[in-house]
Amino acid sequence: MKLYNTLSGDVVSFDSTLEPISMYVCGVTPYSSSHVGHAMSYVYFDTLRRFLEFSGFTVQHVQNFTDIDDKLIAAANDEGTSVKEIAERRIAEYFDVMDRLNIARANYYPRATEEIPAIIEMISGLIEKEYAYDSGGDVYYRVRNFSNYGRLGKRTLEGMNAGARIDPGINKEHPMDFVLWKEAKPGEPSWESPWGNGRPGWHIECSAMSLKYLGSKIDIHGGGQDLIFPHHENEIAQSEAFSGESPFVRCWMHNGLLEIHESKMSKSLGNLVTVEEALKFSNPDTIRLFFLSSHYRSPLAYSNEGILAQDRALDRIKGALNLRNADDLNSVFDGSEYFLRFCQAMQEDLNTPKALGIMFDLVREINKSRDENHSINKGQEHLKKMTEIFGLTLEDESKNVSGLTEPLVELLLEIRKEMRVNKNFSMADHIRDSLTEIGFILEDNESGTDWRLKSS
Ligand SMILES: [Zn+2]
Repeated sequence: MKLYNTLSGDVVSFDSTLEPISMYVCGVTPYSSSHVGHAMSYVYFDTLRRFLEFSGFTVQHVQNFTDIDDKLIAAANDEGTSVKEIAERRIAEYFDVMDRLNIARANYYPRATEEIPAIIEMISGLIEKEYAYDSGGDVYYRVRNFSNYGRLGKRTLEGMNAGARIDPGINKEHPMDFVLWKEAKPGEPSWESPWGNGRPGWHIECSAMSLKYLGSKIDIHGGGQDLIFPHHENEIAQSEAFSGESPFVRCWMHNGLLEIHESKMSKSLGNLVTVEEALKFSNPDTIRLFFLSSHYRSPLAYSNEGILAQDRALDRIKGALNLRNADDLNSVFDGSEYFLRFCQAMQEDLNTPKALGIMFDLVREINKSRDENHSINKGQEHLKKMTEIFGLTLEDESKNVSGLTEPLVELLLEIRKEMRVNKNFSMADHIRDSLTEIGFILEDNESGTDWRLKSS
């Protein structure tokens, strides 16, 4: 498996499936609904994980929730509720929509507010090693002491320094020094620390959590390209200075950003599409296919038309999977070479658009082979494996409409009644037995038939 590393600009090779792969992906700040840009990023890392696991790797996947920060505090004040209440509600919502997108859950979901001791321990260690300093209740990272600062974001301290200034009232040694611990303001949630009451900065939580759950050196660290600088740059500075080990991450993976009307999708622009809205408009499989039809490192323009166009693609896949096998089982269409090429494309830095193209070559071949009366079971099995790696559910949502149970049962009971009137008792009994079998309780009485669902 070869994956592109943002830090080196080179590919990193993962060959031995004997070593488990540790993967840390930056999670959301649960102050508002997750948007389709989040969904895209998590679909990519989910597909990576599915493919790695399919290839025989064991993956330890950790993803955090930044459940304390300025935006959460502002949202809590706006809504007149607590930070904790908003975070709980948004995290539940996050799981709901990401589950519907068939994104496998991580092994751990640490939350900043539950990892305060690990965060304080790391900040204390950084102060001891002179990589950080207490400035009257706030603690800052001392970037000048970390010689590689700027390497990930491809910038130099001198370059960043030009034009940067320290805001008045903030006691920093250098404009690029960033906050590790923030002194509590009145009314804000806070925790006790050696530097007084306060709360952690954003960057330190990811360093502390990846160290605690995955160790000082990890294989893959992922997130959107908007996290390269300063978030991931700062994580490297914190983690390597604290552990004294390098590299902190073997492969930095960053996905391109989702664009709407050519502007990057970020909360400040007010042109967000929430995952919930996207799921109302289309089904999870077409959303996944839309993302995977583009390479994870490329930017992608979001559009409803783009997602709708995947409907036909999905129908073709389902059509090929639902074909009945031929009668002549002597000539077999196997399809294994397509599966091999599919895996090769995925091994080339997760080239999903190429893999998708091969998937449709296989669909075409299955249809053709069926027309020529070749056995297609094996080919269909290979196609099924591809859909599993892509995380497609292949569920027919249009046939699973809630709210129709009652009229359908009433309709069947009406037909049964007519059958009995016409003395077609065997068919009437068949309807009753079938309804009983799938879990309904029927009680005939003078006024007709009462029914209810067996309570499980
Ligand atoms: Zn992070």
